[in-house]
Amino acid sequence: MAKVGFIGLGRMGHGMAGRYLDAGFDVTVWNRSKAKAEDLIARGVRWAASPAEAADGADAVVTMVADDEASRAVWLGKDGAASSMKAGSLAIECSTVSHQHALGMARELRGRGFIYIDCPVTGLPQAAAAGKLTLLVGAEPADLERAKPYLAPIGEVIRHFGAVGTGTVLKLINNLMGAVQIASLAEGVAIAEQAGLDMNLVAEALSSGAVASPQVIRHSKRMIARDFSGASFTAALRHKDAAYAVRLAESLLPAVPVSRAAVEAYARAKAEMPEEDEGRMIEIVSRAK
Ligand code: NAP
Repeated sequence: MAKVGFIGLGRMGHGMAGRYLDAGFDVTVWNRSKAKAEDLIARGVRWAASPAEAADGADAVVTMVADDEASRAVWLGKDGAASSMKAGSLAIECSTVSHQHALGMARELRGRGFIYIDCPVTGLPQAAAAGKLTLLVGAEPADLERAKPYLAPIGEVIRHFGAVGTGTVLKLINNLMGAVQIASLAEGVAIAEQAGLDMNLVAEALSSGAVASPQVIRHSKRMIARDFSGASFTAALRHKDAAYAVRLAESLLPAVPVSRAAVEAYARAKAEMPEEDEGRMIEIVSRAK
């Protein structure tokens, strides 16, 4: 039975770890806080006392943690996964990290004899739990072939952009554009409200007209109803992704003023409500002058 070490049981990682179990893998998990693992343990995963213990003997180690800092800690920190992985095993980074971090981690882990691929994902937590994520991969073709059995339980679609780091480039572009759209939508909805428009009509118009991207369709209804129940992507994570994306963009282009404005908008949302749904941007934008 192939062995997977899975690290990071947040909104996304919890469902992904469950997919490996359902697919018949021998799964060992670690999360910073153990409480999130209890139901998985009851279903048959093994609990590890550290990332190193989760990685010990694994054919593939998969990480799904918040950001660069968390990724560095679980791979390379004290009792990190890299300290116990077996030579030639796979290191699959599903967390959304910065481009610089993905390249640095690839160098570091390759240097220790492991195969690192960046594999950030798109899809909400329900898609993670159902194995229906889209995987945005950066890897050498032969490494991707080796990784495929470990990607099948979590992903419905694999998009391979090229060498290590390229999956992360696309993921950051995707989430930066999402930040721009959602921040701009909040302003549009707030303008319509202040101008006294019929908000049912506004919802219909925005979600069926020329600006009706999936983000606009999803968030316009939620913003207008001020109903942010259901699966969440937090303000802190959206800010992180947009900020990583702008750092990459500014290394390639002279200026990205629209993207920068979205980062600033999300810096404010993160400061006020880091763990709340990103769509609550509307509450900030529509506050009385
Ligand atoms: P989340 O629910 O906030 O979970 C974050 C995970 O990271 C938790 O397991 C947390 O541990 C761990 N973590 C944070 N800081 C850590 C540290 N310093 N050391 C060790 N572990 C640490 O986030 P999520 O929504 O699952 O997102 C996880 C990743 O997927 C992020 O990179 C995010 O950008 C990306 N993503 C999210 C979505 C989405 O819709 N939510 C979609 C696509 C991609 P604790 O449980 O102990 O806090």
